[in-house]
Amino acid sequence: MKEVIIIEDEKDIAELIELHLEDLDCEVKIFHNGKEGFEYALMNPFDLMILDINLPGMNGVDVCRQLRAEKVNSPILMLTARSEEIDKVLGLETGADDYLTKPFSVRELLARVKANLRRVEIDTQSDSSASVISYKGIVIDKKKRKVSLNNERIELTPKEFDLLYLLAANPGVTYDR
Ligand code: CA
Repeated sequence: MKEVIIIEDEKDIAELIELHLEDLDCEVKIFHNGKEGFEYALMNPFDLMILDINLPGMNGVDVCRQLRAEKVNSPILMLTARSEEIDKVLGLETGADDYLTKPFSVRELLARVKANLRRVEIDTQSDSSASVISYKGIVIDKKKRKVSLNNERIELTPKEFDLLYLLAANPGVTYDR
């Protein structure tokens, strides 16, 4: 079951997305207020967020940037009402992974959702040896050799860390003992 958060104040659109995501076996949580959605997302690991830009409480650009600042690296698909907003999304380096311009077709939406759900994000930072893997609230920072779950530090031995990193960096790959 994939956890998906929808933050969209247009209730019809939110419900339409929810309906189709449930067909994909997703557990959907809807918020119509940016701030409420942000606060929930901060505390609850998710696999994908579908985020509108113009929202009451807190706009989508701020929601996205602040989640990234808090090291929440799950995929975020932004919904933009006008094509000019795409420039805003891209230009401000919000940390969004993808965007869709309204009105969008259901087919287009589902294709993007599936693509974003498939991927475990691997962020390669400026230092080529440094990478951060983030998945469902677990953040593994290779350079700092730190692991956290929902922003809480987890202590691991060096060997445990190396093993976790190897497995997390290679999803779907089987290793012998
Ligand atoms: Ca809106």
